[in-house]
Amino acid sequence: MKKDIKTLRDKLLTITRLGSAVALLGWDEEVNLPKKAHTYRGEVQAQLAADLHKKMTDRSFIKLVEDLNKAEVFDALTSGDQVIVREVLRDIERAKKIPEELVKESAELTSQAFGAWAEARQKSTFSIFEPYLKKIVKLNQREAEYIGYTESPYDALLDAFEPGLTARKVEDLFVPLTSELKKLIQQAAQQKIPTIPKATYDRVAQKKLNEAIAAKLGYDFEAGRLDVSPHPFTIDFHPTDVRITTRYSEEDFWEALGSTIHETGHALYQQGLPLDGFGTPLSEPVSLGIHESQSRIWENFVGKSRSFVEYLYPLLIDYFGKQTIQYSSEELYAWLNRVQPNLIRVESDEVTYNMHILLRFEIEKSLIEGDINAKDVPDLWNAKVKEYLGINVSNDALGALQDIHWSHGTLGYFPTYTLGNIYSAQLYNSISKAIPNLSEQFTKGNFKPFLAWLRKEIHRYGRTYQPEELIKHATGELVSSKHLLAHLESKINKGE
Ligand code: MG
Repeated sequence: MKKDIKTLRDKLLTITRLGSAVALLGWDEEVNLPKKAHTYRGEVQAQLAADLHKKMTDRSFIKLVEDLNKAEVFDALTSGDQVIVREVLRDIERAKKIPEELVKESAELTSQAFGAWAEARQKSTFSIFEPYLKKIVKLNQREAEYIGYTESPYDALLDAFEPGLTARKVEDLFVPLTSELKKLIQQAAQQKIPTIPKATYDRVAQKKLNEAIAAKLGYDFEAGRLDVSPHPFTIDFHPTDVRITTRYSEEDFWEALGSTIHETGHALYQQGLPLDGFGTPLSEPVSLGIHESQSRIWENFVGKSRSFVEYLYPLLIDYFGKQTIQYSSEELYAWLNRVQPNLIRVESDEVTYNMHILLRFEIEKSLIEGDINAKDVPDLWNAKVKEYLGINVSNDALGALQDIHWSHGTLGYFPTYTLGNIYSAQLYNSISKAIPNLSEQFTKGNFKPFLAWLRKEIHRYGRTYQPEELIKHATGELVSSKHLLAHLESKINKGE
């Protein structure tokens, strides 16, 4: 048995190493790839991904895990090894339920769908993408049937991104939150939107500032690097190699800095995973929602706080010069926290962002449950934007075609964004109780105790607990949206 668990750990390590190689090709593709190299790179990645899938679904590998899961064997394992067996089995079972022909069909469809989506978005013509979305919905419906569910087929999809999440749980969290947010958005519409004077922010200075802030927050540049890519992201190979990207705009320094802080949050989670369980679920992030909570807590609760802005303000003057920073720290704070409905999800503020997620959740669930068809999506989308945000969608590129997710064949991903916001608010509430002088420390640029709390309560556990259990364990409370609502209310009502 000891030998078997050792064999399992070794096999997992091999799979993880191969996965790192695939991931590195992906990083290189986003950051460095020559224009003509995309097709060949795609072929290399597809081949390696297929090899990886083979290793994961190899019979002897599955048998090894299933044998370790037999009661008399399992009970004798250490608690860490039990986590490994339980979680690997979870991954295998999902993979096993989906027939290979569906995986292949889905890969072929999504490679075409991506091109169709890109063209549809460029021409702002939903009908170009519609037949692909129709097929993607069908494939996801089939997948849900293979996976199985009790209440809604959408549950089977959600579970892939957030173990244990169901449509009902999403509704229980989102409905009370968003019905209050609708009122807050109407209230915010009556208020004057803060602005700051236009300025040009030197790119070289921005790069230095972004690096300095990431390092100050705790990002280890000896175990990572910061590069530029069209869409900022974090990619991990090992806790000693976690890379982030950002993108610079000369008109708005926050576009890069906000992204850098967000990605730093993701990266701190990866850099903080335990080294000794590397290759196994003990050293893997538990879910997309928890991952997003780590980025949002730094971006929104640290980065947009009054105390952080007080810390940042003199640095802005140092890096860009007094002649560039023609506004006060207080004006900057108000501008960073402005609430203004935007048609584009990724450009939205903390309050309205969640309405974007609600409408995507409602549309995806209706599609999967067969209540609506792909062709109904744009009208429904536009009506919901009008209802939730009070604005008109002028074209599909700014509406139902704005996100890449569906073109990748992915449904059930969006709710994890708001879930990340909900988790982050709940975690922040607990941290601020555990560390009473938190804002004083932020003002001084001391983020160490804050990071130490996250390391101790979240990062070190890997996949030991399921997401809901992890939040309960860290905060002593069941997952609830009340902390996020309180946080957003105070932003609008008290300007805090
Ligand atoms: Mg993120």
